[in-house]
Amino acid sequence: MDPSGRERAPIGELGGTAVAGRANLDYAGPPMISQRIRSGYLDFYARNGHVTVPSAPLVPVNDATLLFVNSGMVPFKDLFLGKETREYKRAASLQKCLRVSGKHNDLDEVGRTARHHTFFEMLGSFSFGDYFRKEAIPMVHDVVTKVWGMDTRRLAFTVFGGDPSLKLAPDDEAREMWRKVSGVSDDRIIGLGAKDNFWQMGPVGPCGSNSEIHYYQGPDFPCAEERAGRSCKGPACDCDRWLEFWNTVFMQYEMHEGGGLTPLPAPSIDIGVGLERVLRKIARKPRPAGQHGERKQAAAERGALVVGVGNQRCAQHDPRVVG
Ligand SMILES: [Zn+2]
Repeated sequence: MDPSGRERAPIGELGGTAVAGRANLDYAGPPMISQRIRSGYLDFYARNGHVTVPSAPLVPVNDATLLFVNSGMVPFKDLFLGKETREYKRAASLQKCLRVSGKHNDLDEVGRTARHHTFFEMLGSFSFGDYFRKEAIPMVHDVVTKVWGMDTRRLAFTVFGGDPSLKLAPDDEAREMWRKVSGVSDDRIIGLGAKDNFWQMGPVGPCGSNSEIHYYQGPDFPCAEERAGRSCKGPACDCDRWLEFWNTVFMQYEMHEGGGLTPLPAPSIDIGVGLERVLRKIARKPRPAGQHGERKQAAAERGALVVGVGNQRCAQHDPRVVG
C-alpha cells in the first residue's frame, strides 16, 4: 500500500507486492486517439509559453555529424550550444525521427523488443537557457498525470546516479523534485549510471544527465533475467515490463572529441517522448473487428508524413504534425 492507502503496482525486485485484479490500475478515462495525445501535449506547453515549431526534415540541415534526425532536439542543436538565438526561449514540437545509424541505432532492436522502432514521432519540449529542473519537472508531471491521465501507481522515475569517469555527482535535485511533485516513495525513484541516465545526441555535441519515466506494463512480458533464474531488474531491466516512454534531459554540457565536457552557455531542458509508446498505454481500448486501432492510425499518419502527402484527417485536425 502507498501512504494514501491505495494499492500499488508491483515493481520487480524493488519491492512491493503482487496486485490482485490488476485491471483496476488501468487507464479508466474516455478513449483517446493519437491526435488528442499530440494536441494535449502541444497545447499544454503552448499554454506554458512554448512556441510550437513544425517538424524539421529527416535529413539534418547544416549538420554533418548526423545522417538523420534522431531526436526532437537535433533541429535546435545550435540554440543549446549558444551559436544561434531565435525570438523564443521555449519551444515544443512533434519531430519525425529515424534511428538507423550512429549512436542511436535501433535497427538491431526492432523485433527483439516490443518497444523499438526505427522511424517514430517524438513529442518534444525545450528550454533554451530559460528554465531548468525546478520548473521542468512539475510541468512533466502535469502532462503525464493530468493531461494524459496516467496513474502514478504505474510509474517509476529514474535519475542520474553519478559517474566517476565523467566526474559527475548524482542528481539529487531531480530526485527531490520527483519526490515532491509526484508523492511517490523513494523506491520508485531509481538512480542509474551514465549508460541509462546521461544523454548525448552523438559522439560530440550538447549533453547532460537525464530522468526517464517508466510505465509498468505487467508481468506477462517475458524477462530474460527471470528466465536465467534471477529477478527482473525493474526499470533498469532490458525487458518490456517497465516501458520507458519519457525522457527529460538536463542539458548542461557540450561533449568534445575524446570525451571532454565543457559547460553550455546556459543550462537548458530537452524533453523527448515516444508518441507510439504513450499511445500503447493510453489508447488501449479494444476495437471491433475491421476498425483501425490507434497504433495503426499513427502508423498511417507517419506514412503520410514520410512520403510527403497530406494525411487528410491528420492535417485537418492539427496542421502542426505536418512538417
Ligand atoms: Zn525484466
